Parts: sequence; C-alpha cells; structure tokens
Amino acid sequence: MAIDDTYFTEVCKEGGSAFSFKIKRKLHEEQTPYQSIAIYETEAFGNLMVIDGYVMLTDRDNFLYHEMLSHPALFTHRDPRRALIIGGGDCGTLREVLKHPGIESAHQVEIDERVTRLSEQFFPELCMSNDDPRATLHFGDGIQWVKDAAPGSYDVIIVDSTDPIGPAEGLFREPFYRDCLNALGTGGIVVQQSESPLYHMGILKGIHKAMRSAGYADVRTLHFPQPVYPSGWWSATLARNEESVSGFREDAVKEKSFATRYYNHATHQGAFAMPTFMAEALGT
Ligand code: SAM
Repeated sequence: MAIDDTYFTEVCKEGGSAFSFKIKRKLHEEQTPYQSIAIYETEAFGNLMVIDGYVMLTDRDNFLYHEMLSHPALFTHRDPRRALIIGGGDCGTLREVLKHPGIESAHQVEIDERVTRLSEQFFPELCMSNDDPRATLHFGDGIQWVKDAAPGSYDVIIVDSTDPIGPAEGLFREPFYRDCLNALGTGGIVVQQSESPLYHMGILKGIHKAMRSAGYADVRTLHFPQPVYPSGWWSATLARNEESVSGFREDAVKEKSFATRYYNHATHQGAFAMPTFMAEALGT
C-alpha cells in the first residue's frame, strides 16, 4: 500500500518493510526484452531508476554503492590494470574504476543495452567516462562472457548485478565463480554485490559457499550504508585466488589522485570489520 499516489514504494516482502520516494514526475517507462525499466524524478533523491519494481539507484546516494563495489578491490589488488564489470549498465561502477590511473582496460558486459542508454540520458554524470579510450561497452550475457574469457585475462572482476533472479541468477552460482577464477590472473579478485546483511543472510551464505567451493583461497564481505536498498544496509563480497583479501595499499589510498565521497582508508578498514552475527553466520 503506497502512502499516496505521489510516492513510489518498493515493498520488500522478505524484510516485511517498504521504502518510499516522493515523486515529482515519471520521466520514462519501458519494457525491454529483459525487464521493465522506469525512471522517476523525486523530490529529495534526484532521479531514480527502477528495474522490475526494484530500486536500482538514485542520484543522491549511488556513490556509496559504486565506490564500495570498486575501490576496496582495486586498492587490495597489487597492480590492477585489466578490469571487467558484469552488469553495471548504469555505468557508475565503470566511472569509479576508470578513476584509477593504472587501469589500462575496463570491459563492461551488460545484458540490457537499454539500461545504459537510459542512464546516458537520465544519469549523465555516471556516464561521463564512457568515452574514455580504456573503456569498452559490450551488450550480452556476462555469464557467457566470463565462460569464454581467456585464462588469466583480468585482474579484477566486479559483478554489479541485479538481485539473484531472472538473468542474474547464474551470477550468484558456483559455475560462474569458477569461470571467474579461471579468467583472473595471479592475485586476482572477484567482487559480487551481495545484498543486505540484515535481510539476505541466506544469499550471503550461499555466495560464500559457492565462492569457496569454486576454489578461492579467501572470501570476505564488506558492508556499507545504502539508504534506498532494503534495510538501508548493503554488502559486497570479495574472493581472491591464492592469497588473502585482507591488507590493502593503504598509502596509495591516502595519496590517491582522485576524489571519492565515502571511500577512504578508514572506511576501507571499517567496512571489513565483522559484526558478531555476520562473523558467526559466515564463519569469517
Ligand atoms: N546495484 C544495483 C542493485 O543492486 O540494485 C544494480 C545495478 S545494475 C543496473 C544491474 C544490471 O545487471 C542491470 O542493468 C541488469 O540488466 C544487469 N544484468 C542482470 N543479469 C545480467 C547478466 N547475466 N549479464 C549481464 N548483465 C546482467
């Protein structure tokens, strides 16, 4: 039940909760071969993108998610040069990745080209790096892309996906993580957006189990606030071949040449601090 018809509401059945935005107007709505996409102008959060009724991002708070999905992994890897983003069609993660001067190539594989075209139109600041010569935008299934990738061809793989339903379901499974492992070079890291620690511990546990049985040496979850996602608290899970995820290039973070709004050396450390219930559930 919406507050009134001037609000967009996302109901989260598994959490028994809902989050509403006061809407100024609907800017766009369409059904693509993959999903329904709607864009709203809100009173307080800028523009809002909704896919299949689920909030994807807003102007106001997307920096939290995009920064925490990309920089912790990129500053944990010793020398990341080749990045792959699966999903991420809004291009916010791509923009963060390309802030790293050491990145030589960033491939983005999004299944639905319309997400990117609408983001270019309604979230232009997220797409400001799309013309960077290091970036290549592919439109297709990320699962197949990773299966076909040459062994050792990426340093960091970021899975910026929708929830584990529909075309994204396979992105949360062991065979996909095994293909990622094969596609990663020495010390390579895969990062998966891993839902809410409060509402989705079953999904988080499943990701840890699938990554461990795929053969990664270390799997760790970080967490951060995300007001517009269910429970307001979100996570990303990192898995690394051959070595530990803990430890990062702290001096490089302190001296980084680009601006971030949430990410810094202290939030990097804090994000990996495990609340007791998470440590018990995940065994980390
Ligand atoms: N961060 C957002 C969230 O958690 O709500 C998701 C951002 S991004 C818009 C997610 C993208 O993943 C969508 O655009 C969707 O089309 C894409 N996607 C889903 N399954 C995919 C697959 N198998 N391969 C590539 N992209 C996929």
